[in-house]
Amino acid sequence: MKQFRIRQYYQEILEHLKTYFPAPVSNPIMDGYFAHTMSNFLDRIDRLKSAKPLLGIRQEKSYESRLSQCFPTEMKSVETVTQLLVDYCQGMIVWAHPNAQVNVVSSPTIPSITAFIAAAIYNPNIIEDETSARFAEAEIDAIAMLSDLIGYDSQQSGGVFTFGGTGTLLYGCKLGIEKILGGQTMREGIREDVKIVASAASHYTRLNVAGWLGLGTKNLVTIPTTRDNEMSLIALEKYLRQAFDTGEKVAVILATLGSTDAFGIDDLAAIAQLRDRLVKEYNLEQPPWIHADSVIGWAWTVFRDYDFDNNPLGFHSRTLRSLQDSLQHINSLHLADSLGIDFHKTGYVPYISSLFLVKQRQDLMLIGRESEQMPYLYHFGHYHPGNYTLECSRSGASPLAAVANIHLFGKQGYRVLIGHIVEMAEMLRERLEACPFIQVLNDYNYGPVTLFRVYPDGIDAESAFERELNDPNYHAQLQQHNAYNQQISQLVHERAMRGEGVLLSWTSTYRYARYANGLPIGALKSFIMSPWTDLKAVDTVVQQILEARIQVKPVFSL
Ligand SMILES: *Cc1c(COP(=O)(O)O)cnc(C)c1O
Repeated sequence: MKQFRIRQYYQEILEHLKTYFPAPVSNPIMDGYFAHTMSNFLDRIDRLKSAKPLLGIRQEKSYESRLSQCFPTEMKSVETVTQLLVDYCQGMIVWAHPNAQVNVVSSPTIPSITAFIAAAIYNPNIIEDETSARFAEAEIDAIAMLSDLIGYDSQQSGGVFTFGGTGTLLYGCKLGIEKILGGQTMREGIREDVKIVASAASHYTRLNVAGWLGLGTKNLVTIPTTRDNEMSLIALEKYLRQAFDTGEKVAVILATLGSTDAFGIDDLAAIAQLRDRLVKEYNLEQPPWIHADSVIGWAWTVFRDYDFDNNPLGFHSRTLRSLQDSLQHINSLHLADSLGIDFHKTGYVPYISSLFLVKQRQDLMLIGRESEQMPYLYHFGHYHPGNYTLECSRSGASPLAAVANIHLFGKQGYRVLIGHIVEMAEMLRERLEACPFIQVLNDYNYGPVTLFRVYPDGIDAESAFERELNDPNYHAQLQQHNAYNQQISQLVHERAMRGEGVLLSWTSTYRYARYANGLPIGALKSFIMSPWTDLKAVDTVVQQILEARIQVKPVFSL
């Protein structure tokens, strides 16, 4: 590349600078250069791939040395920056790698990536259709098709793509608060306490939402979970009765359908029934809003019309039971007033692609603005979501990528993907259950995630876990076992990072022991998401635990 002297006519530089952009009018040579740049990037990345579930190497770094960097003066070439980008990819976990079982992270498909590229080139902003053309239609299409999938009436339903599962929860809770406070809070603010009720296994984003909406986390009510990580209906009813008896306002009941750590699934139908019964009994003017946090669990609705009797896809019987069991609760998603869907979790789409769906689209008017408040917008076109979205600029990438995968997979493809990751998790559970020194913790939550604890020789896993859960006199052992498991997790992690095993993760609080001030119970976690995960990878998980157990000496006396 040509070097530039400091003093130069800007027009000359500008001519060169234009080669940094995709050509705005037909120019096959420049398109060739663009395609070459992408292919050059892929070639360079390819050299970073290995048996390790990560790109290149990951170095433990201190970030301090980077703090003194200055903003560069000179331009760089496209090639130099491409290499810079490749370097920034160093150490990334390859989520699709058969030896990555880390968390609920998608490996995006080629068409969903193409959709992101399309949006990156043409840069649609779905604040209105004037600035997003058919990308806006993609949003409407996704809303319609997802409504059909989960069982909303798409003539009535509505929605909006937003900034993550967190955004979907924010919209859901905001609508519930508007409802209970008469649609006044956009103007008047929140001037009284109203409650958001969720289970102890619900995602921590409820804390963000309560805090950021100005409600305050003190207005969160936490309902204990059953052993299956479901919201306890008895405890919920008890709380609601006490609230209604004392005139407390309940804005939102947050049902979790597919909890992050254990794939716990709340009984949404029973929760909705309970709400309706109590609303009648207490003669409440405004029923609590039910928002379903189904950002992970939504994908299981592709099995709503699967022929479980004939099982045409030929899933293992354990897998069938598991899918059917999950579906039992997820089948009721349409009973929620609103819900959240993360395509970037179980939809195999890049970050960020999250859809907030609402049963009655007119409810979005509760958070709308008058057009006089936005003078430069909405003079053209017919679709103006910017009237009610929290965001102003909103990328067209997320709905287009969602639509790409919906068409790519259909129900059939998603059934195979979800069925496969559950099948692999079932195979893993079967193997772990056969070891007397391993306890699978979420044994009744049949998702792609498996949480388990390992115990030293001479300790029976099942009875030890039972005591950890219930016996206050066993808390010292619980603490020691936590440390032991964390050591095993550490060892497994180090080995996997060297390419000698499967990368798992660790959760420091699978749940709390059940007695007062119970300690957290940690767990090793396998989250299978990759279509490339196979029985070999499953066997490796068990094998590496056995080997780690030999290396890790318990630091305590039995
Ligand atoms: C991941 C997750 C969230 C948060 O979603 P983001 O997309 O990470 O913002 C909320 N609820 C559940 C159950 C989740 O798993």
